Amino acid sequence: MTMVTRFAPSPTGYLHLGHAFSAIFAHDAARRNGGRFILRIEDIDTGRCRPQFVEAIEEDLAWLGLAWDEPPRRQSAHFDDYRSALARLEAMDLLYPCFCTRADIAQQIERAAEAPHGPDGPRYPGLCRALPAAEAARRRQAGEPFALRLDMTKATALAGPLTWRDGEAGEVDAEPQLFGDVVLARKDTPTSYHLAVTVDDALQGVTLVTRGADLFAATHVHRLLQALLGLPVPAWHHHRLLTDAAGCRLAKRSDAVSLRTLRSQGLMPGEVRALMGAPLLPDRRANELGQAQGG
Ligand SMILES: [Zn+2]
Repeated sequence: MTMVTRFAPSPTGYLHLGHAFSAIFAHDAARRNGGRFILRIEDIDTGRCRPQFVEAIEEDLAWLGLAWDEPPRRQSAHFDDYRSALARLEAMDLLYPCFCTRADIAQQIERAAEAPHGPDGPRYPGLCRALPAAEAARRRQAGEPFALRLDMTKATALAGPLTWRDGEAGEVDAEPQLFGDVVLARKDTPTSYHLAVTVDDALQGVTLVTRGADLFAATHVHRLLQALLGLPVPAWHHHRLLTDAAGCRLAKRSDAVSLRTLRSQGLMPGEVRALMGAPLLPDRRANELGQAQGG
C-alpha cells in the first residue's frame, strides 16, 4: 500500500518555521517512501480563516520546494461529510446537545467539589449530559444554540480498550477519557477539530499522520472516533516542536517570525531545511509505520 502523508494548516495567519518543519517532515516521509503528500486546509473556523492566508500557505510551501499530489482539500467545503459522521454517532446515542455558554461552564467548574483537568483544560462538568431528553428536545426546537458533545463514558465502554502506534512512542494505550465529553460540533459550526481531522484523514486515505508533539494527546480522541465510526486506522508520528533561542515553542508565540518575513530578509529554502537538522524519520521505519495499519 502507498504511504500517504499530509500537512494540514489553518489559514489564520502566515506560516512560520514551526509549520515549515511539520510540512517538510510530512513531505519528506512520503517522498522517501514513494508515497503521496497532500495538503489540507483546516478552515472550519470560518470567522478566523482568511482566503489570503490560503494563498500565502501555498506560495510559502512552493517556495520551500514542496509539491502536493492532489488539489488541497478545504474543510469548509465538506461540512456534509462531518454532518454524516455526526448523524452516525447520534444514531448510536453517543452525542448530547450542550446549551452551556462559556460562563455557564466556568460557573459549574467553580461550584464543583473537584474540577479535573484534561489535555485541553478543565473537563466539561457534564451538566447537559443529565438533561431530560424531553427538555433537550424542547430547547433544540426553540432554536437555542447548542454544541454536540460525545458522551465519553458511553463511547469508551462501547469501543473497549484501544491502542495506536506512534513512530517515537511505539504502542500507546488510548486514553480519550482524559478529555471528558469533547465537543464534536460547535454551536456555530457543524464539526470540531477532532471530528473533521478524523473524518478527513480517513476520506483522504492518509496512512501516516505526522504532526507536532503538542497534538499527541488529541490522538487518543481520534483513535476512539475511528473505532466508533468504523474508519481505517493510520499510524502516527508526533515530531518534536521547534523552539526559539529561549526554548519557547514557536507554535505558542503569536509573534513567531513568519517565513515571508525571513524570506524578505534573504533566507533561502535550503537554509530552512538546514535549521530542521537531520531527518528524524528514517526511511525504513517510516515505511513500516505507514504500511502497518493503514487501509
Ligand atoms: Zn452544557
